[in-house]
Amino acid sequence: MTERQQRQMARLIPRLQELQHEAGWLSADVVAAVARELDLPVHHVSGVANFYPGFRRTPPPRTSILICQDLACNLKHGGQLVERAQAFARRDKDVEVKSCSCLGQCDVAPAVMIDHVPVGFGSERAVIAAIEEAVNGKFDPEPVPLEYAGEIQTDPYENPADRYAALREVAKDPVAAADRVVQTLLDAGLRGMGGGGFPVGQKWKLMLGKGAQAAPCRYIICNADESEVGTFKDRELLGRLPHLIIEGMAIAALISNTQRGYLYVRHEYVQQIEVLKDALSAARKLGALGPNVFGSGRDFEITLFVSAGGYIQGEASALMEAIEGKRGQPRNGTEDFGGSVRSTVKGLFGQPTLVNNVESFVFVPAILQKGAEWFRTQGVGGNPGLKWIGVAGDVENPQVMEVPHGMTYGEALERCGGMRGGRPLKAIMPGGPSFGFLPPEFLDAGMEFPNKENFGKLAKAGATIGSGAVMFLDDTRDLIDAALNCTRFYRNESCGKCVPCRIGAQKMVNIIKGVRDGSARADHVAEVECLAQTLYLTSICGLGQVVPKPFESVVKYWGDEDERIRKAMAKPPSSAPSKPAEPVTGDTRLPVNVMVRGAPVGVRKH
Ligand code: SF4
Repeated sequence: MTERQQRQMARLIPRLQELQHEAGWLSADVVAAVARELDLPVHHVSGVANFYPGFRRTPPPRTSILICQDLACNLKHGGQLVERAQAFARRDKDVEVKSCSCLGQCDVAPAVMIDHVPVGFGSERAVIAAIEEAVNGKFDPEPVPLEYAGEIQTDPYENPADRYAALREVAKDPVAAADRVVQTLLDAGLRGMGGGGFPVGQKWKLMLGKGAQAAPCRYIICNADESEVGTFKDRELLGRLPHLIIEGMAIAALISNTQRGYLYVRHEYVQQIEVLKDALSAARKLGALGPNVFGSGRDFEITLFVSAGGYIQGEASALMEAIEGKRGQPRNGTEDFGGSVRSTVKGLFGQPTLVNNVESFVFVPAILQKGAEWFRTQGVGGNPGLKWIGVAGDVENPQVMEVPHGMTYGEALERCGGMRGGRPLKAIMPGGPSFGFLPPEFLDAGMEFPNKENFGKLAKAGATIGSGAVMFLDDTRDLIDAALNCTRFYRNESCGKCVPCRIGAQKMVNIIKGVRDGSARADHVAEVECLAQTLYLTSICGLGQVVPKPFESVVKYWGDEDERIRKAMAKPPSSAPSKPAEPVTGDTRLPVNVMVRGAPVGVRKH
């Protein structure tokens, strides 16, 4: 591909977003016009427009209502809300009600997007009232307020005038500062906070290596596309501490002699996007971005790239595909969560690229200002540093918290005021659904990324703090339903690139439904192990690998006490054909014409 073609491709998604903003949708004529304008094949432009859930291919309704159906919202009857809202909307054909994946508002569940503004109401009754008003054309959506807490350890600057001090220091001599910065991050023990936990200093060191430095250019990307069920901590950092994200990125850029950066943010964070725009322009005025950053002799600019939607865009290589103007599907060879490390060799546009999560960049200025030792000692139980987590589910006060890395789940629950209504705890989701559920015995486990020296209770159970998504479920909850809900999320969000994931995820949904409804037999449950192995070995990216985790954990910890699992295990195998697959009703990136057990699944709804 020529450089010109590459540039044209990179303009594609922002251009489609502009045109959709003007007309409300992307007609076939608009797609053809964009193809002509950017000199790209129509099939490519059409393929991109059809792939991302943020693009509409049909005229928009007068009022659009998207209702989150994932775990935190489902616990607040998110599923039934869709049906009730659709019943209202039937009176008016110009109102569209659809279910959607996690909106990152789990603390104010049930969450809804009305006319592209995310709103969280905290109660089913309030949502129904708002939907009724929206259907009647009287609702003026007010976004969830950005709340500012008191002192935050992560921010080293008490006074806004002091901001960017760490960057100013590096800018005095970026070449001399490079090794010192990397060594400080290594000494601090800072881990990648997007879920993988790869040491940040090691990744930065790769960007300073001969290979990366010999390349014609390099890129820095901040991954602000958190979308895993229950994950909403970066939302707070984007709204509260945007200057630290920019500073962390700029420090990485100066020491690695990188001139271009992208801040890739999910489109549902509409207020945070405005905050980021303001912070970027303030940084430019200050000289923290742009030509000759703080007199360093090095240039660095950040482009705010708003995602066109899709959970899988949070995978580093899929995110880069999106910036390059392609369908955002993970690249081959990214299994074992290694995509963002390999990108330091061959990333965006084939060049060395540093991809870090929001929280990872946010900690950098404080570590450089206060020292590696200060950061290390913030953690507990042998874990270095601070950690941001989002706690949701059946607790009195769901919230985002800055905590010592390694703090126990019990302490997090206490800080949230305990279980709602004093009900007994039944299960903990320790770090997003990819680690399944754990029983209350894990309340004393530390919320941590394990390391060689520290392999605690959580690690022994095969879990980590992951994306910082912690959820507590009370004794009234049906964990098979919870596992089904999480597995549907993965099924809906599978990008469809590899067969094991797109078919296996649907298969898992069918098996869990069978157990819940009493139609599953011993061979169906036994199939899960084989399916899990197949998915683990053959999925291109991490999504496919974790599909069976929620159900596996329920069988492991509650299999003996759950009558439906025991009954299914006791039923002999049947030679009768299985029931047809459940049709996909939510949003999904599965391609059309997928047949599972003779039933069509995965038909995209627009
Ligand atoms: Fe896409 Fe699933 Fe394959 Fe990942 S594992 S590339 S989400 S189909």
